[in-house]
Amino acid sequence: MASRTNQRVLLGFALLCAAASPCADSSRLSAAESPPQPSVAAANFPVATAARLAGDGKQTRFILDLDQTVSFRATTLADPYRVVVDVPQVNFQLAPGTGAGRGLVKAFRYGLVMPGGSRIVFDLTGPAKITNSYVLEAANGQPARLVLELEEVERAAFVQTPAPENRPDLRPTIAATPPATVPAAPEPALQKPAAPSDGRPVVVIDPGHGGIDNGTQSSGESEKNLVLAFGLALRDRLEKSGKYRVVMTRDDDTFIPLNDRPKVARNLNAALFVSIHADALPKAEGDAQGATIYTLSDKASDAEAQRLADAENRADAIAGFNLAEEPTDVADILIDLTQRETRTFSNRFAHLLMGEMKTTVRMHKHPLKSAGFRVLKAPDVPSVLVEIGYVSNKGDLEHLVSEGWRSKAVGSMAQAIDTFLAKRLATAGASN
Ligand SMILES: [Zn+2]
Repeated sequence: MASRTNQRVLLGFALLCAAASPCADSSRLSAAESPPQPSVAAANFPVATAARLAGDGKQTRFILDLDQTVSFRATTLADPYRVVVDVPQVNFQLAPGTGAGRGLVKAFRYGLVMPGGSRIVFDLTGPAKITNSYVLEAANGQPARLVLELEEVERAAFVQTPAPENRPDLRPTIAATPPATVPAAPEPALQKPAAPSDGRPVVVIDPGHGGIDNGTQSSGESEKNLVLAFGLALRDRLEKSGKYRVVMTRDDDTFIPLNDRPKVARNLNAALFVSIHADALPKAEGDAQGATIYTLSDKASDAEAQRLADAENRADAIAGFNLAEEPTDVADILIDLTQRETRTFSNRFAHLLMGEMKTTVRMHKHPLKSAGFRVLKAPDVPSVLVEIGYVSNKGDLEHLVSEGWRSKAVGSMAQAIDTFLAKRLATAGASN
């Protein structure tokens, strides 16, 4: 079992290296794990070696150099204006800093959106149309290239092409099937695939962002990598006790749509959902530091909580999803009476967590806040979102990348989870 876990972790880091260009940093993240090794799987993906933009605010051309031709599909989306290019999984080996805008492109980003599928998303300065898009074979000493040509149009003339229908699906590892650590009992096909088959409470750990969505970035560190490393360390700590089934919404560098995250917890009747993030404050808003624990509320506890919830809730747009076409789901369930009990438990856990974390970790000056985070909207699973620190703060960032700090913070979190679930189980036992 250990070797299977290791393999998964290794593959995770291989993918991380494949999708995030500055691979040097990943060694730090994986220090707690086995050293990263070359992955056979990653070696077979097409490699993108360079990307550039040319042109101006009327016409802009994008060129991606590849080591082989790929199939692709380009679509345009409005509100905000974006162009989305879907390709098979590509190993992006682009220079650090690639993604700056020019002409009609404000900025662009790239990465995995699902196993086997990568995406490039362009944020546009305004409405534009794709006048031409094609892939060139390598010729005359030039590599294979994917070329996209954009031209400015009036808003009225903007035509939104149908959003890509290949919305990432939950991977089998985190879908409703029991994880490999549990011997799978044969189940009737129609049975609700929810109940934990071994009776242990399920804890869902949700590292924010992933794949094409880097989260906040500072000094070359991406939130998505920091929170994945933290989540994996927390998983390992919790699994060591053997008391819980721990399920990750992602254990590698793949994008997971917002609605799917609480869905994992709901499908598994989880006892607790913990989302891990690391915020950044825009320079104009000064400096902030320390960890903050968020619970769900319809009204944000303060302006910063509102700003953060808005930022985190934009993840699907960042990954190039057309929000209007997202299916209605838990995100739209009103926070009503049925959720009151869940909210009480969420708040109880948030307080316990603050009590534990403040003994080992620097906390924000107002460490308990609430806002309308979409990932916290499972109506029946106590859920918190922890901002483990600010990547925009020098001191916090030093902590976030430090093995020692992570170990202490993970220890406090595991302790709080122990206390919370021991109490809940005792209560549940007494009422039976
Ligand atoms: Zn985040």
